[in-house]
Amino acid sequence: MAFEGLTERLQNAMKKLRGKGKISESDLRDTMREIRLALLEADVNFDVVKDFVKTVRDRAVGTKVLEGLNPAQQIVKIVDEELTKTMGETAVPLNKSPKIPTVIMMAGLQGAGKTTTVGKLANRLKTEEKARPLMIAADVYRPAAIDQLVTVGKQIDVPVFEMGTDTDPVEIVRQGLAKAEADHNDYVFIDTAGRLQIDEQLMDELARIKELAHPDEIMLVVDAMTGQNAVATAKGFDEKLDVTGVILTKLDGDTRGGAALSIRAVTGKPIKFVGEGEKMSDLDVFHPDRMASRILG
Ligand code: GDP
Repeated sequence: MAFEGLTERLQNAMKKLRGKGKISESDLRDTMREIRLALLEADVNFDVVKDFVKTVRDRAVGTKVLEGLNPAQQIVKIVDEELTKTMGETAVPLNKSPKIPTVIMMAGLQGAGKTTTVGKLANRLKTEEKARPLMIAADVYRPAAIDQLVTVGKQIDVPVFEMGTDTDPVEIVRQGLAKAEADHNDYVFIDTAGRLQIDEQLMDELARIKELAHPDEIMLVVDAMTGQNAVATAKGFDEKLDVTGVILTKLDGDTRGGAALSIRAVTGKPIKFVGEGEKMSDLDVFHPDRMASRILG
């Protein structure tokens, strides 16, 4: 289960304060040390942990007595609020263009869940807004990627624009956008190529697609299971593409929590959705406060 170790360790760290009428300096020091270790063990970015612990400690020292609450509850409340803040405070909606179509470019490493997530998002908009999306298959390096998108398209009844693997992806996107214009699609999703790791050629191609398509949203898909690698990936993509949002996938797995807790703080970019399974309906809006409550158990 996601966050299992982190939840248990945070609860244990704070449990020791329960029943105390007053928290001493050394009680607080011990608790903060345990919170720090719990976060590091969950693979949260080192600087994020440092800032988090400092903020919680400062607030705990600054608000010695909070009316109606005992000290242990105060600490839990502060930790809850600061976890929420670290993850971005409030949910951030999808960017939309004032004029159709809204163009959403999807980027991410191979296997992160990009193609699945395009389908989930298109399906969500179709169901919620009766939207008429078009999905463009611009991953020409793996024929299987195009087939996969076509399969997803059939499953959710959303058209896929594809030109096989012999055309330059930028040209595919150009023609796909023209098709969307002609067909009055209100959303266009561009499924781009991923690699096993970030490389120059991939980034240049994505930059060229961005330049042509002027996307309203550049959505980076990252696998929550990969912890700090997910954070490094997000940073790498963001430096090159200036992404507008992040989707964190595989939160139904036993992710430790490092990616969810670090990405916003490290990149400054909001997590907008989370993937919680392989089905087309397994996509949820990311609510930092609800995620904090889930982490605290
Ligand atoms: P891509 O290479 O980035 O396009 O990745 P895919 O969309 O092909 O996904 C890779 C694998 O991850 C597939 O087996 C998906 O079913 C799976 N996957 C994607 N998102 C999720 C998720 O949120 N939860 C789980 N459990 N699996 C996911």
